Amino acid sequence: MDLGNVVEDVKERLDIVDVLSGYIDLRRAGRNFKALCPFHSEKTPSFVVSPDKQIFHCFGCGAGGDVVTFVMKYENLTFPEAVRALARRAGIKVEEAPAASSAARSLRKRLLEIHREACSFYEDELRGNAQARDYLRRRGLTDDVIGEFRLGFAPGGGALLRMLRAKGHSDSDLIASGLCRETERGVTDTFRNRIVFPICNVRGEVIAFGGRTIADGAYGPKYLNSPETMLFKKSSELFGLNLAGAEMRRRGYAIIMEGYLDVITAHQYGIRNSVAPLGTALTKAQAERLKSLTKKVLLVFDSDEAGIKASERSLSLLYEAGFVAKVLLLPPGDDPDTFLRKHGRDAFRRKFTEVLGLVDFFLGLPGERVDIVRSLILIISKVTDGIVRSDLTREVSEKTGLSEQFLREELNLLRKTPAHVRDAGSTSQPMSAERFLLGVYLSYPEHVDLIRESISPAEIEDEEVRAVFEKLYSLPGLPLDDISPRLDEHELSVATGAAVSLDIDGDEVERNIKDCIRTIREKRLRKRLRDLELEIRIAEKRGETDLVNNLQDQMNLLIKEGGG
Ligand SMILES: [Zn+2]
Repeated sequence: MDLGNVVEDVKERLDIVDVLSGYIDLRRAGRNFKALCPFHSEKTPSFVVSPDKQIFHCFGCGAGGDVVTFVMKYENLTFPEAVRALARRAGIKVEEAPAASSAARSLRKRLLEIHREACSFYEDELRGNAQARDYLRRRGLTDDVIGEFRLGFAPGGGALLRMLRAKGHSDSDLIASGLCRETERGVTDTFRNRIVFPICNVRGEVIAFGGRTIADGAYGPKYLNSPETMLFKKSSELFGLNLAGAEMRRRGYAIIMEGYLDVITAHQYGIRNSVAPLGTALTKAQAERLKSLTKKVLLVFDSDEAGIKASERSLSLLYEAGFVAKVLLLPPGDDPDTFLRKHGRDAFRRKFTEVLGLVDFFLGLPGERVDIVRSLILIISKVTDGIVRSDLTREVSEKTGLSEQFLREELNLLRKTPAHVRDAGSTSQPMSAERFLLGVYLSYPEHVDLIRESISPAEIEDEEVRAVFEKLYSLPGLPLDDISPRLDEHELSVATGAAVSLDIDGDEVERNIKDCIRTIREKRLRKRLRDLELEIRIAEKRGETDLVNNLQDQMNLLIKEGGG
């Protein structure tokens, strides 16, 4: 019997309320049940279970899902393990596989060993390869730093594969490690003719490699990373973090650069609190990883267009994650690696006097002033620390001439109460029309077509809700049960939150949908009007009378069209 059918059977036979009351103390509250959340600590219950929809949702920490999700989370099981446990309980027979968790643990151990052996192998190869050593020497790297970062050389030609096979590793383990891969002509090395940079977890264990070609016009992309494996999720690791942690604590801040060589050179020049994302833009998960070490970040990027875009995105993400961040833009064409080698450490440190805070960075950007102020306000609205928020607001006011009062009104309009401070019991916190619509979509499959015909995801302002709608619109109209595996954890939380919060009568649904869509459209119109008002204020400050008149005309037109 395959697991897919078992899941359906399990859900048919087991009631979520029965199962969960075996774990936690559920109390009836209207149509739903409530409890103290087992996934975060709280004094008043914000954990809700809906027997109608067979889902749970915590308004405190955002945890949500069905009975399988709950058991996975509570017992810390994988999906198949949780399904098996529930199947046993429901009296459904499933072929017993060997205990998955111990199998997974032992695979993990073997993969770490493969990486350890590969790392030593690559280091030896580097020692024996003059061309590769020359390349690193030309990049100005000393033997010390090469040793510290354990740089190596991957010769390719199946050399790594032969070595690891000889040590007794199975091909399936080697493929699972990502260091070898299967091709039409059989198994071969992933990294060929490349300098390799070991990527370590915080404990300093090698979990992946980055590889760079040393010859121009060589085969394949210039940079290549290990594929994602059981050990390696590239969106949550930072290159150099195992070596930079202590210095981050000591100096009280982290430096984020773009590339591996930037970080290595920075360490060589004594700037040892430096790390880099792994070939992508900084992610939320990486920011979370830094958080235990420091909440201050200096971003060091090239001042070209890509660098500026990366700074904008990273600043926004860091402030939202609770960091205070600044930016150092190096002269065009320079990255920390080239800058340090040309000008040295002291010149680099002197550059720190040119570091820009959030507000100065944004106000210095080229482009429409109103868009810039709007982006700033949006970022500030997401800052959770009230003191940081009001400092930033004051700074924007001082530097733009817009009154603090006006900025604060804008902020209040943008600020949504984040899910983790919302109390499930409070009815004073009305659900937004967008979330309400999502709840209806998920709860009443028979009305899905009406919603799809009436509104497009692009019209949804709330990014989280829009993302879920986009995914839902790309799938055939399915009930919540079947779509949950297609949503990631955060999307699932948004979906269960909306579905659980919904409380309407079946015969009101159609009217509710229409009301919601009207509210969403009205809100969009009001936002467009506020944008125009902001543009007008800025134009007035600059004495641009023609522009002011033009904007006022646009505003009048919009008001007329909106019938308001
Ligand atoms: Zn919770």
